[in-house]
Amino acid sequence: MLKGILFDIQRYAIHDGSGIRTLVFFKGCPLECEWCSNPESQFMLPEMGYFPDNCIRCDKCIPACPYGSIREEENILITDRSFCRECYHSRQALQCTTVCQSLARKAIGAYYTVDEVMKEVLKDQLIYRQTGGGVTLSGGEPTQQAEFAEALLRELQDNLIDTAIETCGYCKWENLQRLLPYLDQMFFDIKLFDSEEHARYTGVKNELILDNISRLGKELDNYDIELYMRTPVIPGITDSRDNIENICRFLSEQGIKNIEFLSYHKLGRGKYLTIGKEYKLYDIEPPAKEFIAECDGIAEKYGLNPVHFE
Ligand code: SF4
Ligand code: SF4
Repeated sequence: MLKGILFDIQRYAIHDGSGIRTLVFFKGCPLECEWCSNPESQFMLPEMGYFPDNCIRCDKCIPACPYGSIREEENILITDRSFCRECYHSRQALQCTTVCQSLARKAIGAYYTVDEVMKEVLKDQLIYRQTGGGVTLSGGEPTQQAEFAEALLRELQDNLIDTAIETCGYCKWENLQRLLPYLDQMFFDIKLFDSEEHARYTGVKNELILDNISRLGKELDNYDIELYMRTPVIPGITDSRDNIENICRFLSEQGIKNIEFLSYHKLGRGKYLTIGKEYKLYDIEPPAKEFIAECDGIAEKYGLNPVHFE
């Protein structure tokens, strides 16, 4: 049976599309943006999150780990994560989480059928109708699981639920194209115009993304989709005038109308520690509101329509 791997289903969201929405978070992303506020979305398999405040020191996890990765040192539990990735791929994955009853060690990510997701999202069907809301596929990167995403979107459409997707755009065109007939709204990231800079901060070059934007610009008239491009404004990384100008010029050339500039925020920093990752942008503060207004002004200069869902 077709299953997708998700790491969360969040109800009552208001920033990711019209009205009140349910966000379905896909696990797995081809990018590794340094500012990612959902770092637990990046790896494609269930992984171990460690929340030491919940630990009651039953010590059951120490013998449960087949790699001997958990030890006590000066009355503190230390986890050497060097074997965790190997463990996630193994048949006996995440044994430490299965014995932890206090949820100090939790598996992040689980497999769902379309019916299981629908059962959850249908709980708010009335709210979607009253507020013009619906369901947004987020992540992670939904196009990484295109077959599951398509099946879910089709089911949502059959139930007359408004659909949206958030994508980084780094995928085969065919994976994006197959989702288009089932979408009402689309949020498409364009972070850095210079490909080398893009690779430096996200882990991949951007030619594939730009190519997908061009194709989308050409095909959009065939569909009834509201497309919103999104640029995260990260001081010192994406906020150069050159970057904003180049992005706006490019989008305008592709016949695209809407762009949203998203302020960098600090939410999600704490999650890095729970999955054993390092957060690199501690010194960065959110941009001034005036600068976002400046970005909006640049967009308007290129004939784009700046929007804000926040
Ligand atoms: S099993 Fe959970 S609660 Fe028990 S020691 Fe390990 S982390 Fe702590
Ligand atoms: S995820 Fe696997 S390797 Fe890592 S501590 Fe838990 S059982 Fe051990």
